Formats: sequence, structure tokens, C-alpha cells
Amino acid sequence: MTKTIKTGLTFDNSFISQLKGFYLPSKGEQAPKPKLIKFNQTLAEELGLKHNMLNTDELALLLSGSIPASGSNPVSQVYAGHQFGGFTPQLGDGRALLLGEIINKNGLRRDIHLKGSGQTPYSRGGDGKAALGPVLREYIMGEAMYALKIPATRGLAVTITGEKINRQLVNKGAVLARVASSHIRVGTFQYFAARHQQDKVKLLADYTINRHFPELKENQNPYLSLLRAVRDRQADLIAQWVLVGFVHGVMNTDNMAISGETIDFGPCAFIDTYHSSACYSSIDKQKRYALGNQSYMAQWNIARLAETLLPLIDSDDDKAIEIATNEIHEFNSIYQTQWLKRLATKLGLSKVKTGDLEFADDLFKMLQAQHVDFTQFFRGLSDTTKGDIHALQKLFDNPQIFNQWHKKWLSRFLSDSLPSSKKIKSMNSVNPIYIPRNHLVEEALQAAEQNNDFSVFEKLLSVLANPYNEKSGLEKFAKPAPKEFGPYKTFCGT
Ligand code: AMP
Ligand code: MG
Repeated sequence: MTKTIKTGLTFDNSFISQLKGFYLPSKGEQAPKPKLIKFNQTLAEELGLKHNMLNTDELALLLSGSIPASGSNPVSQVYAGHQFGGFTPQLGDGRALLLGEIINKNGLRRDIHLKGSGQTPYSRGGDGKAALGPVLREYIMGEAMYALKIPATRGLAVTITGEKINRQLVNKGAVLARVASSHIRVGTFQYFAARHQQDKVKLLADYTINRHFPELKENQNPYLSLLRAVRDRQADLIAQWVLVGFVHGVMNTDNMAISGETIDFGPCAFIDTYHSSACYSSIDKQKRYALGNQSYMAQWNIARLAETLLPLIDSDDDKAIEIATNEIHEFNSIYQTQWLKRLATKLGLSKVKTGDLEFADDLFKMLQAQHVDFTQFFRGLSDTTKGDIHALQKLFDNPQIFNQWHKKWLSRFLSDSLPSSKKIKSMNSVNPIYIPRNHLVEEALQAAEQNNDFSVFEKLLSVLANPYNEKSGLEKFAKPAPKEFGPYKTFCGT
């Protein structure tokens, strides 16, 4: 009999019971020397995973995939995907394992998922492993997003496997345990649509509606409503990314979750100075997924989702295409509305008025031309209402340009009907001081990888957990990278 670990968790695996053919049974490889190096205590408690039920060694065995939890039924999920525009009909969890689903303390269904736990039926020749650096990066990014109130999957644990794995260099192997509201991707729909298995697409659409959008069930055309709902969540998600300067880096359709959560943090990064073509991934040569392209790429991905739903939207092909095309065209205006609404809060404006879009466009043109640090600019803006504009002027190549803009902004700010104190408070609740700046992330990863020192990683996480509250002693975390850090490049998390 297979050895299992008693966790006290009650698994409720709806994906497995309702979606036969969407996964294959899979199991983790026994890690040679699993060691737990990070455990997200608060998230674990939310899931009902009590640390006192399991000792650290048992947690390491469980969360590295070495020994399954009793009552769990681990599987790897299948999907397809457009990768940088080209369609790959067969992808799937090549190095991931869905341990199972849990109903958390708040009554919400959550996937517990391992990444890097070894080969699966979908590995396609890959080793099924993950390196420590990318695992820590995903953990940092997920926690940063959570603190920034942006929907994202979160890290539950990081385990070192004790194994060396071969990448460009020899790396330490690690496993990320992560929690998501589901792992249904645009690519999950594409897998079955590409095989003309329309009954499976319908099954998946019904399951998705039940799990994520139950309020749509009774709508006249629930599948059209599903398309709209996914589109709307995605548009708002990208607006939130762009307004904190987040570049996902690999927005392939297999990396876009239907739930609207940020998923699969690979070569992602945050900008320092603003530039719409900011792009860090070493493999994204065409800058397909650059900062300012993300909304267009999300729209493109939604169009791929729509294609899979056409027969469900209307039995008449032409009619279905016409309806879906109109919905996809709406993406831009929905995105722009969300973006402008959220930007207004960042600028201390309680309402969006006519002319604000032009005002916003001018602002971003100015930030780009003047090489302004994005995070420092927005955070510093509220302080200028007290009369001191010096700190912000210093961020500009030409302070005169800022002065002219600031006069316009101040008059718009003061003419807004809400009291200034309220507006300042809300600005400071959406403009972070601390973001995972690239040089800080690299510093944390390097200390862990090269010196086995996780204190830098821990310190960074503690700072990022409170991004809006300024704390003395943390000045270095609010600053852009030093010049010698140079242009930043990220590598795929494989
Ligand atoms: P990603 O770029 O991480 O989103 O991965 C794209 C596809 O490649 C997914 O199907 C992954 O499961 C698969 N993949 C990535 N890395 C590995 C690996 N080391 N071994 C097997 N499959 C992998
Ligand atoms: Mg992926």
C-alpha cells in the first residue's frame, strides 16, 4: 500500500469527479532530501492545514510531492495553448500536480498545486523539475500581488528537494506549493476545441460557470455571459497590472486563468522608470508581452477563448461569430474604463471627467520621455499637496516639465469635490511605496541560491507584505536599482 500523510484536510475534488478526460493520474517523485524553507502560515490556516498536526519533515515530504496526503488523488491537468502566437495542441502540467481541492475557512474552493515535483504524463521530454530561483521569484511575486490587492495565485510553501538539476547552470531543485481559485486556463478550452470535442468544451464551460460564475447559470445565454465575464475580469486584471508597472512576460493562452487571477509567474518583472515598451523576458524578442501591449494581448487571448465557445453561443456559425466579435471589440473600452477609474484614484480624483483620458495620456507620455520612476512618482504625488514639490521634481530630467504638469494636476485635484485629506488617504492606499524591484528580487534569489542564505528573501517578503505603509529603516526598498545593476533580463522559469 502507498504510504500517505494524514493532514486533517478534507479534499473535495470536483475537477476529478466532474471532468473525466481532462487530466491523468500522476504522482510526485520522491525528493532525495526534501527540506521546507518557506511555509505560508496564514494561508495554510485559511486552508485548514494546521502546522501543529504535521512536523516540518512531514510538511516537506507532503509539499515536495514525495508522499501524497491521505484522501488526495493527485492528477496532472491537460491543456493546449498559443505560445507567442503559435498554437501547440498538446501541453498540460509537465511538471505540476494538482494535489486536490479544499473548501477554505471562508467557504471558497481552492486548488492546492505543486510545481516542480517531477515528470508527469505531460512532460514531453522535460525533467518535470523546477529550479530554486524561479520558485522563489514566483513566491515573492504572488505575495507582492496579494498585498497589492491584485488577484493572483499564492505560494503556500517552498521546498528544496536536495537534488541538483541541469539548466543553463546546475541549479538546486525546488518545489513550489501554490494555491489558486482554479487552474482552468484559456488553453484548457482550446485543447478540446482543437480536437472538435464540443461535448467536452460544453462540460468544461458548465463546470467553469458553476465554479467561478454561478450567478450566470440562469442567464438566457450562459456561454455568452461566461465569455463576457472572463473578458471583464481579465480587462480589470491587466489594468491593475499596468498601474503598478507589472510585466507578466509570458501571457500565452496556457498562462491565462479563467478565474481572472494572475498565474504562472515566469519571467515577470516590475518596472522602475516608466516605458510602455518595457519587456524583460530574454525569449520575448518581438516584445509581444511588453508593458503597454498587455491589454492587446489579453484581448487576443480572449478572442481565442471565444473561438472555442462559438458553437455554444449560437448554432448558426455566422451569427455566433458576429456576436462574439462584438464582445471582443468591447474589450478595449472596458479596459480603458477600468484603467482610467483606477488611475483617477492614484491621482486623487474621485470621479473621471471629460478630458481626463487626454490628461492621462499626456501624463504617461511625460513620464516616459522624462525617465521617471513610476512607483516613486505616484507615491510622491500626495506629498506635493503640502507645497513641497522638490522630491518629485528630482525624478524628472527636466523639472520645468514637471512644474507645468503639476499646476494642471493641482487645479484638477483641488476642484474635485471630496476633501483633500480623504483623497490623499485613498491615493496612499493604492500607490505603493514598496514593490518587488528587480535588483531586490535578484539579491534575494542570489543569496538563497549561492549562499543558502534565505534571510534576504525573508526580509524582502516582510517589506512587501505592507506596501502602503512607510517605515523608517526601509529606505533602500523604496529606491530604484543602482546604475550598475544595468538593463534587466529575466529567463523563463523552466
Ligand atoms: P511555462 O512556460 O512554465 O508556462 O510552461 C509551458 C509548458 O511547458 C507547460 O506545459 C509546462 O508544464 C511545460 N514545462 C515547463 N517546464 C517543464 C519541465 N521542466 N519539465 C516538463 N515540462 C515543463
Ligand atoms: Mg504555464
